[in-house]
Amino acid sequence: MLPSDGPALRDRVVAELSQRLPEDEVKAWFDPGKITLLPSGSTCELQVKNVFMADHYEKNYRRALEEVLSRVAEVPVRLAIRVNGDAGAAKPAAEAAGAADLKISSAEIAAVPPEAAAANDGIVLNPGYTFDNFVVGISNRLAHAAALSVAQQPGAAYNPLFLYGSVGLGKTHLLQAICHAIREKHPRLQIQYLSCEEFVNDYIASVQNMNQLEAFRGRMRTVDVLLIDDIHFLAGKEGSQEEFFHTFNTLHNASKQIILCSDAPPKDIPTLEERLLTRFSWGMVARIDTPTFETRVAILKRKAEARGTPFPEDVYFFIAQNIESNIRELEGAVVKTAAYASLLNRAIDLDLAREALRDSLEVASTPVQVTDVQAVVCRKLGVKTAELQSKSRTKSISRARQIGIYLARTMTNASQTDIGNAFGGRDHSTVSYSIDTVKEQMDTEPSFRGFIEQLADEIRKSKL
Ligand code: ADP
Ligand code: MG
Repeated sequence: MLPSDGPALRDRVVAELSQRLPEDEVKAWFDPGKITLLPSGSTCELQVKNVFMADHYEKNYRRALEEVLSRVAEVPVRLAIRVNGDAGAAKPAAEAAGAADLKISSAEIAAVPPEAAAANDGIVLNPGYTFDNFVVGISNRLAHAAALSVAQQPGAAYNPLFLYGSVGLGKTHLLQAICHAIREKHPRLQIQYLSCEEFVNDYIASVQNMNQLEAFRGRMRTVDVLLIDDIHFLAGKEGSQEEFFHTFNTLHNASKQIILCSDAPPKDIPTLEERLLTRFSWGMVARIDTPTFETRVAILKRKAEARGTPFPEDVYFFIAQNIESNIRELEGAVVKTAAYASLLNRAIDLDLAREALRDSLEVASTPVQVTDVQAVVCRKLGVKTAELQSKSRTKSISRARQIGIYLARTMTNASQTDIGNAFGGRDHSTVSYSIDTVKEQMDTEPSFRGFIEQLADEIRKSKL
């Protein structure tokens, strides 16, 4: 049975969750002001403030909460997530999502004192999606700079700001970073942040119930900053495009800031009305590209360090070599590698990362072989394959050999023994020594690192 005292139970749950989740996440989601727990026998009701929050708890914390509660109660406990003020306790959050009484009318918005507005804006943000946590590189420099200036001076810098790039490259992260920064620097400003899908669904729901249309318009058009994620979702939705056109005009005429992101530039969003297309390009259109190798390494490093599990350099290098197109997958690789290490109680090294990520790496259509590495090293460093495999200790040859061994180790699936054999029957310690020597020089000399990365690029290209 669960203890009947809700606040005391909440403290126990928070204490347990603190063991498994980062501190700021626990603070962001389980502070006393955010949730109420109402235990009753072997069920427990979690009351939250709005449907967005309900959805977030449902997606992210149901399992963990049920586990923790079951442990406290010593019997299986089921969690019911409800929005505060739902009619009775009968309505689950999912149904309540469409309920009228949860929508804030424009009159209510106007009634909120500006000081209190930020805290009550009901926007659910990921606490980690801040500017501080965003790694800047050539691929996203423009988008980042534009986002930053819009956050500093909403309505004054670029209007609208339109960010685009393919999936997993940080668009949502930047949009939310803008929200965090505005909340902090301009707490009086009203922000509305939602996905285009929510915009479309809310619009459709409000059209079906005419007395809600005004409330919907109030929510969209009386704000100081409107951010809409994945605006390409407007494709093919004429009614919503029309509505958004008027939303856009109202806000833009009043110099309110509009920020949009999309997976394609305005001209490539299918069936987008001409008048929206031109408007989207009025302010700043900034593209986010796939990150360069350098940026990928920096991101991996940041993510691993943030988890408190820094990896050896060559592991970052290995992952960055193999995952090129999506930052979400880079993050996933960090999580997987760290989890694998802790599960097997092993140190994180190249072999472990290779095993942990075996199934998730973006494998080139044909994997890189030691011979591919040797071919490029020979061509670029002006040596012959026979020389790589010879006993020669000539400086240029042994240097090329070390580099070849290092690249073979980080780019192919060959074992140290295979590599030793492919380089003229070198033993284990020679192979290790070569790898360490190259690694060390990469750490101390950026230009040498750049050179090795170029070679790696060449090798990959030779497989395309
Ligand atoms: P998108 O919205 O473009 O599909 P997201 O913003 O959801 O991509 O980013 C995917 C993941 O990658 C998120 O966890 C985000 O924090 C992370 N991410 C993306 N870009 C960066 C970056 N430059 N620095 C740090 N993390 C990033
Ligand atoms: Mg996104």
